Amino acid sequence: MTPIKITLIMPGVGCKPGEPYVRGWKMQPLSLAVLAALTPSDVDLRFVDDRVEPIPYDTPTDAVAISVETYTARRAYQIAESFRARGVPVILGGYHPTLVPDEASGFADAIVIGEAETVWGRVIEDCRRNQLGNVYRSDARPALDGLQPRREIFQNKPYLPLTLIETGRGCRFACDFCSVSCFFRQTYRARPVTDIVAEIEACGNQTVFFTDDNIVADFDRARRLFQAIRPLGINWLSQGSVNMADDLAMLKLMRQSGCRGILVGFESLSDETLVRMGKGWNQTMRDYSEAVSRIRDSGIAVYATFVFGYDTDTPDAIDRAVEFAIGQKFFMAAFNHLVPFPGTPVYSRLEREGRLRFDRWWLQPEYRFGDVAFKPRHMTAEQLAQRCYKARRDFYRFGSVMTRAMDLRANCADVRAAISYLWINLFSGREARKRQGLPLGEGLEGKAA
Ligand code: SF4
Repeated sequence: MTPIKITLIMPGVGCKPGEPYVRGWKMQPLSLAVLAALTPSDVDLRFVDDRVEPIPYDTPTDAVAISVETYTARRAYQIAESFRARGVPVILGGYHPTLVPDEASGFADAIVIGEAETVWGRVIEDCRRNQLGNVYRSDARPALDGLQPRREIFQNKPYLPLTLIETGRGCRFACDFCSVSCFFRQTYRARPVTDIVAEIEACGNQTVFFTDDNIVADFDRARRLFQAIRPLGINWLSQGSVNMADDLAMLKLMRQSGCRGILVGFESLSDETLVRMGKGWNQTMRDYSEAVSRIRDSGIAVYATFVFGYDTDTPDAIDRAVEFAIGQKFFMAAFNHLVPFPGTPVYSRLEREGRLRFDRWWLQPEYRFGDVAFKPRHMTAEQLAQRCYKARRDFYRFGSVMTRAMDLRANCADVRAAISYLWINLFSGREARKRQGLPLGEGLEGKAA
């Protein structure tokens, strides 16, 4: 077989002039370790992370494969153009090319649509024969058995000290703003529990982030997973839907298995807004305060996320959410404005209604992280952006941090938890300020690591 060199690239979002890359965004890019594992062992594989090191444009390679998300699309296309100008073929894959394939095709020799598992082998073989196709489409939902990411590609890179592991993929819900739901077309697949145990044991890290969009997507399977990882003695974090609070025995098992904190998308305190976003099941079936108490009583800290800008949202909705978040003593909280990601139902609706402020906001040089890309109904785009930014600042103010520290069930259950709580909260407030106004696709060449 012809020996070939392939370079995998993780692009960055961007940097403010003279500032280093946002530290909280420096997580190991698990999807590229999975792609590395799918690559035949005779391929000379190199992995470059734009967020922590320079791109070696002039180092010989037979092809470049870039993982693209909407926020990194502008930068990914710049990198692609630089390689193509040198005659190196470029393959783009990931969420963004899957959701807007026509756009991505304009910047690549080939694109991968969908999950790479079933087509990556063919891409490599076509590269060897110098006959790369234009589009590799995977409509299949491959079984996730036997998946063991090649984490050695992360060696010597300055990532956050967390090991990322996926226990399942996708989500069966259909929130209208969610690109996960569109990418996986409302499907969910779980990995075998024995594979996950083996992966945790092999990684040798006591702190794990399960990247699942919903770790409790299937309660029976979640219980089996928690039971199996309980003896490993790890501390773990993940994301999950609020209906986990309906099962107290599962919450107890979750904590016993090492769960320290969980991100829950509450999204809104208004039933009407939740119904509009396709997440009516979130609250109409349960009381949020009761659900939060149950989770915290189990010793699990809550990272709550909210989204604003739906047609039923007024500025008061944001103030009420901040008050609620402090009152509920959330460990952390995110107050996001609605982001119309391409390919989602909310994007199509706003486009149809003529309410998008930019033609493809993710490619516009004037667009900044934190800008609102559409025209809200009850306030201006600028007011919505400012109110969300203010909400973050209010939530991470010293007084709020101290009020929330009074939660001795989860946030500050012991000295170690209290130290993490204080450090993460002070750090998160600073990070929120650093991200606001950041230009997409700029400031990355020659940045400080
Ligand atoms: S529950 Fe979460 S992952 Fe599932 S569709 Fe809604 S926002 Fe997306």
